[in-house]
Amino acid sequence: MEIRRQQPKTLINRNVHVFDFDATFNPYRGCSHACKYCYARDTHQFVNLDRGHDFEQIIFAKEFTTTQVMDQLNRIPLSQTIAIGTATDPYQPLEGKLRITRQFLQAILVSGHGVSITTKSPLVLRDLDLLTSLAAHQQIVVHISLITNDKVMAHNLEPGTCSPRRRWQIIDGLVAHGVPAALFCAPIIPGWTDDHETLDQMFAIASQKRVSWLMTAPAHFTQPMFEYFSAHLASIDAIRTLSFRRNFADNGTLLPWYRRQLQQTIDRLRNHYHLSAQRAAPRPHRITVQAVFDI
Ligand code: SF4
Repeated sequence: MEIRRQQPKTLINRNVHVFDFDATFNPYRGCSHACKYCYARDTHQFVNLDRGHDFEQIIFAKEFTTTQVMDQLNRIPLSQTIAIGTATDPYQPLEGKLRITRQFLQAILVSGHGVSITTKSPLVLRDLDLLTSLAAHQQIVVHISLITNDKVMAHNLEPGTCSPRRRWQIIDGLVAHGVPAALFCAPIIPGWTDDHETLDQMFAIASQKRVSWLMTAPAHFTQPMFEYFSAHLASIDAIRTLSFRRNFADNGTLLPWYRRQLQQTIDRLRNHYHLSAQRAAPRPHRITVQAVFDI
């Protein structure tokens, strides 16, 4: 893997409205978790790299000083929540070495903003000391992303991630320490992870695990990503790929009838398992003690 270190002027993107959040922080560009459906693959093209191998193997790390990040956080109204990890996994393996996400969370303890984290990695449990401090003031929710409980399927589609079983254990670890954890069952992939048995199993386990909420979203692609992902699916199972493709228009958007049908299935499962689609928004909490940087 190649690591390219950057010192970007802007660390936090604002007014992005990703999943209702007001701002996003992505500590890396690229992701060695290598999920084949990942919409962020397109962002590597912005820096003249490809969405395949380069996205997985050339990772940009965004470095910053405490002064720089605090300066930017202080310009964001406390009422705004910040989503960490919308275009990369903030706890991908490189974080074990560089600790950029941890550095950002330490700054959040001082700034007082509400935050969400989205990850597939057990490395998030390394930062339980910070997460529990934030959770004590309802300042955080951690979203664990999982598309299926089938470990072979998960490995085929997300080759750089840990097993489904390990991801349920991450939720256990967070909940046991009082950190709100939600399940991101997304993207739901037509013909691959959208059958009733698969979805029912996800809802059933999530309800046992006491997740705060469960988010679902159907797959959506840009046209080039649709072709990239289709080619990967075809390398696994050509027949099944045909049933995947027939649910999309040529530009990679889902056909309305499929979307409606999936939503009906999801609604039934929500009612059955009493799992909310509504998240409790993380709340801001300002403290005066600066010594949190010593944590
Ligand atoms: S973990 Fe997230 S950011 Fe990383 S490749 Fe998978 S979907 Fe993309």
